[in-house]
Amino acid sequence: MDEIVEGIRKFRRDTYPLLKPLYDRLVSTGQKPRVLMIGCSDSRVAFETLTGRGPGELFIVRNAGNIVPRYGAYMGGVTASVEFAVMALPIEHVIVCGHTHCGAMAALLKPELSADMPAVQNWVKFAREAKQRIDKAETKVFDRHLRAAIAENVKLQLEHLATFPCIEERMRAGKLKMHGWVYEIENGDVVEWDQTGQKWLSLTESEETKRDVSGRFGRV
Ligand SMILES: [Zn+2]
Repeated sequence: MDEIVEGIRKFRRDTYPLLKPLYDRLVSTGQKPRVLMIGCSDSRVAFETLTGRGPGELFIVRNAGNIVPRYGAYMGGVTASVEFAVMALPIEHVIVCGHTHCGAMAALLKPELSADMPAVQNWVKFAREAKQRIDKAETKVFDRHLRAAIAENVKLQLEHLATFPCIEERMRAGKLKMHGWVYEIENGDVVEWDQTGQKWLSLTESEETKRDVSGRFGRV
């Protein structure tokens, strides 16, 4: 805890003065983020660091497994945060970002890992369909099975988001774009789901040379 408090002192002493004009503006005009990110709570996923963004730029909803229950299936904090972001803020892009080595997705595949965690079991059931969709060939090796589940879950949660009336309406009007990402902790890459081409592409490669990297996530 000492390190955390020291970090706060350092922030107030060194960082805050540099950002004071930005914070003043954010206080006087309010937040106006254009990106809603839905990510996992995993401590290894740091969105501002990953995207080079600062205060006021990302509205972030995090939970175990970057899950968004279908609208009406579970009206809780995640639903409220997404609804607020889309309706009250100038959000233009919604990003669901999964990540490799996800514990929540491991719990989805192996319920015995969370046998004494009823809340986790109850929560990951909103990703169960992803498990059902994975090619049976991927289930033989756990690491491949997990990567396939992580990728398929991102696609499933995008579908769930599209059931929100506020999102459906804005997508239809061309005011909102949806993005599905997976962050690969082991190599720093971020891959994006190409809905048109039905394949995963690396966001870190230039547009012309983007390769299909779906093989990293099984045949999903
Ligand atoms: Zn995770």
